[in-house]
Amino acid sequence: MGLGCFGGGVAAARWLARQGAVVTVTDLADEHTLADSLAALAGEPIAAFHLGEHPENDFRRVDLVVVNPAVRPGSPLLEIARDSSAQLSSEIELFMEASPAPIIGVTGSNGKSTTAAMIAAILKADGRKTWLGGNLGGSLLDRLDRIGPDDWVVLELSSFQLWHLGCEAPLPQIAVVTSCSPNHLDWHPSYEHYVAAKQRILTGQTPDGLAVLNTHDAQFGTWGRLVQGRQLPLAAKGDIPELAVPGEHNRLGAALAATAATGAGCGQEAIMRGLASFRGLPQRLEQFAVVDGRRFYNDSAATTPESTVAALESLDEPVWLLAGGGDKGCDFEGLTGALAENARGAAFFGEICGVLQSWATVRIQAFDCTTTDTMTEALDWCWTRSRSGDAILLSPACPSTDQFRDFRQRGEKFVELVRALE
Ligand code: ADP
Repeated sequence: MGLGCFGGGVAAARWLARQGAVVTVTDLADEHTLADSLAALAGEPIAAFHLGEHPENDFRRVDLVVVNPAVRPGSPLLEIARDSSAQLSSEIELFMEASPAPIIGVTGSNGKSTTAAMIAAILKADGRKTWLGGNLGGSLLDRLDRIGPDDWVVLELSSFQLWHLGCEAPLPQIAVVTSCSPNHLDWHPSYEHYVAAKQRILTGQTPDGLAVLNTHDAQFGTWGRLVQGRQLPLAAKGDIPELAVPGEHNRLGAALAATAATGAGCGQEAIMRGLASFRGLPQRLEQFAVVDGRRFYNDSAATTPESTVAALESLDEPVWLLAGGGDKGCDFEGLTGALAENARGAAFFGEICGVLQSWATVRIQAFDCTTTDTMTEALDWCWTRSRSGDAILLSPACPSTDQFRDFRQRGEKFVELVRALE
């Protein structure tokens, strides 16, 4: 249910078909939208494609429904499937059930990908064969035949993926939670629902499981009682090396990664070497150009206000910010404080631009900002006002889906526009 465009649906369909399952693929999108995913399935023994709709009958006569994580809570079709005694699962649940290797799972509102990648860097420095996947880096179902019991798997887990897990789903042996703040409230019916989804990574663990929580954040004080196994004490920030990536938020990610790696049996030497070698992920506060003395940063992966705050607090130069995109019900109070402290001005673009401008102008006296329809106009505005020595930062604080396929396409467009200035 939901082939999608991001690889998980393709991997699940292919894997099940190759195990001999009779697979029907259904998606509300049409052939044209799904062209790449359909091409990836060409030649696979898929029994039927029902595209452009979800025929109700498909949910009545099946043994197993593999649900795309984007499918919303309360879908009546899933009720029909349950009433017809179908089992529900998902690509990530199929993988966790089948993985012969132990799994470290990382969730949180911000910093999941970076922390997961840092853990993988440490495991590799320790000489382990390591697989990084989940919400980051694509499905590992395709690679199950190469994953052995002595390997390690690091999975980034989104709230949608966690919410869709069945009661019996095996959870990662080591669970890491980076942060928790309101997010995806256009999908989760309430903040409590979102928090419960995140907590699922702890409540589903077995008694031998390990948990790593961001104890620098007071709210996690109450999460400790949910831990089924043992909670590991967070590595002190002083015990991690100089990092190539800027900001306190990255030092926190490194502390979480070091703690998880300790739980996996890595020694301090591998932790230091793995973290010191970590160069950052693309599109996370990535400095990619200097034009006429202005430094350009691509932080398109910042899809929450907290991540934009982290970016503003990490840069030393006077910042011109480009922010905006779609509206997923986030609270921008904290962002206005960071704007007042750290930004020289801001151009807000996309569907949410008016909301951001009213927050900024009501809360900050004489703040230099504007609203534009597109990121292109926002860049023109910042470029014209900036001086040599300033930073121009794309850190949108919002999802990209009002104007782009995903945050990657938004970031690539930004880089292309800046290259044209060069
Ligand atoms: P996620 O996978 O949760 O989206 P990423 O590691 O991809 O997280 O980072 C997304 C954005 O969040 C980036 O802009 C990054 O700089 C920022 N970020 C990373 N860690 C934190 C944190 N602890 N608090 C706030 N922002 C963070």
